Formats: sequence, structure tokens, C-alpha cells
Amino acid sequence: MGQIQLRNVRKTFGAAEVIPGLDLDIEDGEFVVFVGPSGCGKSTLLRLIAGLEDVSGGKITIDGKEATKLGPAQRKLAMVFQSYALYPHMTVRRNIGFPLKMAGADKAVIEQKVQEAARVLNLTDYLDRRPGALSGGQRQRVAIGRAIVREPAAFLFDEPLSNLDAALRVNMRLEISELHQKLRTTMIYVTHDQVEAMTMADKIVVLNAGRIEQVGSPIDLYSRPANRFVAGFIGSPR
Ligand code: ADP
Ligand code: MG
Repeated sequence: MGQIQLRNVRKTFGAAEVIPGLDLDIEDGEFVVFVGPSGCGKSTLLRLIAGLEDVSGGKITIDGKEATKLGPAQRKLAMVFQSYALYPHMTVRRNIGFPLKMAGADKAVIEQKVQEAARVLNLTDYLDRRPGALSGGQRQRVAIGRAIVREPAAFLFDEPLSNLDAALRVNMRLEISELHQKLRTTMIYVTHDQVEAMTMADKIVVLNAGRIEQVGSPIDLYSRPANRFVAGFIGSPR
């Protein structure tokens, strides 16, 4: 599961219309990247899907169920925050298990899910450490682990690598792609970085001022950009 539909989704903040009305279909298991310049509405769109913001109009459907009126917890989506959102006083084990503990899961179940997530993320040897004793990349993996244990219908990432240095960013990009190969769960990944979009996506959604300029595979966008904006942004001549 992990099919998401947006129909005429609008968002205004006061008098500002940030998203004027947007349609989008995300298929189960797809790796979808939202790309576009700073301020174009990428985070807002992701937060609308996650239920962290209410739509001003239109409808969001997740796995056939109208989600527009559901709160974030009921949508079964996992927003992966940047690694600084970890609890510094808790071990990796407790950080990863925290959402399950909050949901009232019993200890044995939590430990089992934490072990599974740690295995997928190569964190098994680090479970007793605190975030301060980890590298940036390892901390990012802990943040992802905290999402994995909830077994979400989709993972939502908002520029998760923007705080990392260039070498680490390349590494984490590969790790997230690998994670998608392993889990085959829908992922929506927000970035303003064209290279990330082109290398990670099954499907790229190019946004400009709250509107979709084009949706397509990296090769579609590269070889058949819909307009000058897409061509300029993806970096191919037209
Ligand atoms: P991006 O993530 O693409 O950089 P955002 O979605 O953060 O863009 O922002 C899109 C526009 O919406 C910007 O003009 C921003 O100032 C505005 N915006 C975002 N959140 C709020 C808010 N809570 N209140 C008012 N304006 C907002
Ligand atoms: Mg943003």
C-alpha cells in the first residue's frame, strides 16, 4: 500500500495562495521527488500530504481512503525529519523505538522492530550509543529507523540531506535509494537539488510557484522538457 492521490488541492496562507490547485497521482512503491526552487511550495505540499497542514480546498486520498480530514497519525505516513530531531539523551535503541512506545506497544515487540530496522540500516552495533557518539550519516539513519518501525504506507523526506557535507550527501543518497530497493515502500522526497532528483527518482514532479510544470521520469524530463522552466531547471538545452 502507498497510493496517494491529490485532486485540486489548494493552500492559502492568509491572502497568499501558495498552492492554487494541484492534481497528482503517486503509485504504490514509487520513489517520487518534488523538485523546484526555494519557496515554490515543496514543503507545504509535503506537509499537506502528511496532514501537518490542513488543505484550503480539494481532496487527498491515501490507499483509496479520503485522508483530508484525518490527522497526521491516522494517515500512516512517516515524515523523516532531519537528524537533529533525535533525542540526545536517549540511546539509538530508544530513539528508534520511541514511536512504538508512544503507541503503547509492548517491550518485546518494540525490541523486535528496533532490531529489524537496525539490521536494514546497518545500525545493529550502535544501538546502545547516544546520538552524540554517532557520525552525521549514522544519525540520519537513526532518524529513518524511527520512521521504519511504524511500517508506514509511505515515507516523506523534506530535504533530509541539506545539513550534511557533500561527500556524506552522496553516501546518504545511495543509502536512501538502497533502502527503497529493500523496502519497496512509496517514498516522497523533497529537494531543490537537480542531481538528487535525477539520480534518485522514479518520477519527478517539477514545481514552480505552487504549480506542477511537469511530471515524468528523469529521462522524460531530460529528453522532453515541457517548457523552458523545466529545461533550465533540469539543465538540458531546448
Ligand atoms: P519550499 O519548501 O519549496 O522552499 P515552502 O513550501 O516552504 O517552499 O513555502 C512556499 C511559500 O509559502 C513561501 O512563499 C513561504 O513563505 C510560504 N509559507 C510557507 N509556510 C507558511 C506559513 N506557515 N505561513 C505563511 N506563509 C507560509
Ligand atoms: Mg522547503
